[in-house]
Amino acid sequence: MGFELLGLSDPTLAAVKDAGYSEPTPIQAQAIPQCLMGRDILGIAQTGTGKTASFTLPMIDILSEGRARARMPRSLILEPTRELAAQVADSFEKYGKNHKLSMALLIGGVNFAEQEKALDRGVDVLIATPGRLLDHFERGKLLLTGIDILVVDEADRMLDMGFIPDVEKICERITKNHQTLFFSATMPPVIQRLTKQFLDDPRKIEVARPATTADTIEQMLIEVGPRDKRRALRQMLREEEIKNGIIFCNRKRDVKEVYQSLKRHEFSVGQLHGDMEQSERMEVLRQFKENEIQLLCASDVAARGLDVPDVSHVFNFDVPGHADDYVHRIGRTGRAGRKGKAITITTKSKVDNRLLEAVEKLTKSPLKRIDDLELKREKRTPRRDSNKSDKEDKKKDLQSKRPERGRRTSRTSAEPQRKSGPPKFAPDDMPKAPFVGLGPHVPAFLLREVKISK
Ligand code: AMP
Repeated sequence: MGFELLGLSDPTLAAVKDAGYSEPTPIQAQAIPQCLMGRDILGIAQTGTGKTASFTLPMIDILSEGRARARMPRSLILEPTRELAAQVADSFEKYGKNHKLSMALLIGGVNFAEQEKALDRGVDVLIATPGRLLDHFERGKLLLTGIDILVVDEADRMLDMGFIPDVEKICERITKNHQTLFFSATMPPVIQRLTKQFLDDPRKIEVARPATTADTIEQMLIEVGPRDKRRALRQMLREEEIKNGIIFCNRKRDVKEVYQSLKRHEFSVGQLHGDMEQSERMEVLRQFKENEIQLLCASDVAARGLDVPDVSHVFNFDVPGHADDYVHRIGRTGRAGRKGKAITITTKSKVDNRLLEAVEKLTKSPLKRIDDLELKREKRTPRRDSNKSDKEDKKKDLQSKRPERGRRTSRTSAEPQRKSGPPKFAPDDMPKAPFVGLGPHVPAFLLREVKISK
């Protein structure tokens, strides 16, 4: 897809062309049309994803109509550091070269008088660090009542640097109905609270780090027969030194099946997919973050937008259907300079080959093939391991949860797991229909066929 489909004006498109960009990055493709429509945006993205152009380009078009008034900037961009503020100013100059927009920088280390002069002339775009902006505001040199667009960039860095109270103050002082574009690479609770308070029904856009920065991640590919995928996965799970890992499947159905299968094989695992209640998802995430479970079997949809911690391993049980998802998935490991491993399981099918080609084209590097994984016989073979259904596991879970005779139990699925050793069952193991409402008094005939496979 080219830039011309995003709704930008011809002069802006000409500037983009001059910058040498042929295709929008994923965040640009998603954010620019929404921004032009006036929606609030919550962008979970970090530097290097092209996020600066994702807000500067539409802002240039929106601000091209209307005029700035003295001391009343029409838009405000908050940046945590002078350097970032200066980079954003460069972007406005580069992309706005065919427009007549006025701009001012309010950053520390620059003379107040000069900055005041610029404000007096009236500015369309004000780029500022929070402290310096408040200084000007408190000296009465600046009004925030004319702001149509507010950008909070690198919010998590602002948090690290102790700027969040200042950001909050600034947001509270912009009383006019305005559009807010909010960017952060991660979403710690303080930032989440801020977005809830100041964003109005935002369009949430999450993008992975660009593939080119993933050099702390060892990426590998293993090809097996379609019926051997789970066995290969188990073998790798046993042979790799795994601190914690996420196993991504393309479909919810597969998430459930792989999860059930791993549980049968006594791995410490939880599941995360779109069919689960929000409370169940949060609980399993909590268990994963607190190392109560080692593995998480997840779909892309469920994993997106959630603050999943850094993991040592990512397994792609399926080659992802979209190459972007591959980058997003593997971006869960190898963060902040730590080493990570991403292993993709593929089959010889035409579909897998096509998807792999797309991944390798995007990441611009062929995945390292593991040729020597010899599938070993497993010592304990649970009775059933087919793709057909998970009914039996549910019954087995049910049996294991049946209260001991003569002892009443009030333990519920929502209760936290004990910390010692891997938890016996995650809350989402609780049988749903047809046992709903039966509580612990499950009729014996429902349990009759259950056998323990030891
Ligand atoms: P940012 O994430 O905004 O810091 O951008 C990272 C780098 O990507 C900058 O050097 C931009 O000039 C460059 N960039 C932004 N958008 C594109 C694009 N669509 N195509 C190629 N490079 C881009």
